[in-house]
Amino acid sequence: MSARAVQIAFLAALALAPVLASDYQVLLLCYIGLNALVALGLVLLTGVGGLTSFGQAAFVGLGAYTTAVWTTARSFPPGLGAWAHSPWVSLALAFLLAGAVAVLLGSITLRLSGHYLPLCTIAWGIAFYFLFGNLELLGGHTGTGGIPAVGLFGWRLDTPRKVYGLVWLALMAAVLTTRNLLDSRVGRAIRALKGGRTMAESMGVDTSRARMLVFLIAALQAAASGWMYAHFQRFVNPTPFSLHAGIEYLFMGVVGGIGQVWGALLGAGIVTLVMQWLQDALPRLLGQAGDFELIAFGVVMVGLLQKAPEGLWPALTRWLPVRPGGRVVRELARRRQAIGETARSLACRDMPPRGELLLEVSRVTKRFGGLVAADAMSLSVKAGELVALIGPNGAGKSTMFDLISGVADPGEGEIRLRGEAIQGRPQRDIAAMGLCRTFQHVKLLPDMSVVENAAIGAHLRGCRGVTSASFRFDRSEESQLLAEAARQVERVGLGEHLLEPAGSLPLGKQRILEVARALCADPCLLLLDEPAAGLRHLEKKSLAELLCTLRAQGMSILLVEHDVAFVMGLVDRVVVMDFGQKIAEGLPGDVQRDARVLEAYLGAV
Ligand code: ADP
Ligand code: MG
Repeated sequence: MSARAVQIAFLAALALAPVLASDYQVLLLCYIGLNALVALGLVLLTGVGGLTSFGQAAFVGLGAYTTAVWTTARSFPPGLGAWAHSPWVSLALAFLLAGAVAVLLGSITLRLSGHYLPLCTIAWGIAFYFLFGNLELLGGHTGTGGIPAVGLFGWRLDTPRKVYGLVWLALMAAVLTTRNLLDSRVGRAIRALKGGRTMAESMGVDTSRARMLVFLIAALQAAASGWMYAHFQRFVNPTPFSLHAGIEYLFMGVVGGIGQVWGALLGAGIVTLVMQWLQDALPRLLGQAGDFELIAFGVVMVGLLQKAPEGLWPALTRWLPVRPGGRVVRELARRRQAIGETARSLACRDMPPRGELLLEVSRVTKRFGGLVAADAMSLSVKAGELVALIGPNGAGKSTMFDLISGVADPGEGEIRLRGEAIQGRPQRDIAAMGLCRTFQHVKLLPDMSVVENAAIGAHLRGCRGVTSASFRFDRSEESQLLAEAARQVERVGLGEHLLEPAGSLPLGKQRILEVARALCADPCLLLLDEPAAGLRHLEKKSLAELLCTLRAQGMSILLVEHDVAFVMGLVDRVVVMDFGQKIAEGLPGDVQRDARVLEAYLGAV
């Protein structure tokens, strides 16, 4: 069966369910849909963005309580007319409130990293639960009843069979837009968060904004679920919005496969069904009521995750014919040539005139505690020059790259790019000025295809945002960006691996992929940190050819390299470092004969 047939069968089953299934089954399907919408937000937030949240139930509660208060209020200010009590008005209010709370909480908590962020989400998960329970206006712990059914085109959605349509249409719309979003320029920026903030920022991604964005989207999806829940139950109390529920939502995401959009559906389905089944079966089995189902549920979940630590969706896709990669990537595979030809080329930067002083580093110093990793280091690169920075291990070469590219802030000294002081500026500003780098310790997204990894580098060359990505208005820009990425991947000699996951390449080729990613940024200065490490002889030769071609095309390159023979035949100038200091500088031939260099570095080789 083809992937499309599976999709059609799934959608047909969904459409037929309210006709064929029993009342109880339809009720369960409604709950699965509502839960899946929250879990979908967690896929984006936790699975893709890498930000674990236990507190999503609070946003569900915000959505539910907003509409409960609005639709059951006794009095309204005059002049609201039909807006008073309207659930659709309260849906907009729920989005506004959840959005505002998300921005406020996000601005406080998203700065945190490591365990502190999840701990914070627990804290506000608990805080909101008590807030819902203690506010008289919200009905306290007893809750608020009398919430009306939603009316849609003259229909009153007052039975589970009718609500089912609304829930699953909303969920499918959310799945579709989320998938579109992930398969776009913004989506790659969000996915890049998992590769570490340093890498994403160095490609021009505003990581704080990307983190806030996923947090906001997840909160809005949760609020939409809460709004539907309130009109489905016609009653709200704080229990379904407790920390316990927050943990359950996270469970759904993890069980389904937290990085996968469809995993949210699968996880919500399994967790909801298992919970329900245990709640029904255990009291009968044990002959008494109690919270035994929670214990049994825990055991089942641990067992499941032992068997499928990545979640069940990835396990399922081994059996199902699921098509790999995003839609545009698949298109690229199908008619690679056509896209390359039809996509208008992206605008390119004007290269600085050959010989212009491009990079000027003057007496920068960087201390790590007592260690001086860069000690009054100076170096310069002129436009069109290929300069090597060499030195023994631990000499401070990578530290220099970090200082120049804005990863680290030099304590002293000055760094100028095209005459502008850049020390202390954010990495993405420096990237926008045309400086792009690779990393000694490869920073790629191993599960993402080679071409998409490269396309992260082109982030600053596109401008389409979340809305156009979600509704696919970004297709022509996407084609341009991916065609450019494919072009650069081919340029560095990895064309045959275009659609493979980057993690499946040998380490040496992964470094070369980083070069392609940097080239996608259309830089005027490339900083390459040991690009030849791990390459075989022939691969090194083609890398050297590529660097020469780039230089001939006006690119300026600063290269950190270990293989001295590789450097000597290739570069225009060499700067040698040892113990954070510059010990020599000059033409390759002269440096090779320098006594200090021989002693510190070459002699040791
Ligand atoms: P190279 O790239 O020349 O091999 P590095 O620049 O990576 O050298 O490191 C220079 C020195 O600075 C080393 O002694 C290293 O241990 C130290 N160093 C680098 N980064 C850090 C850091 N973040 N914290 C503490 N020490 C560091
Ligand atoms: Mg290094």
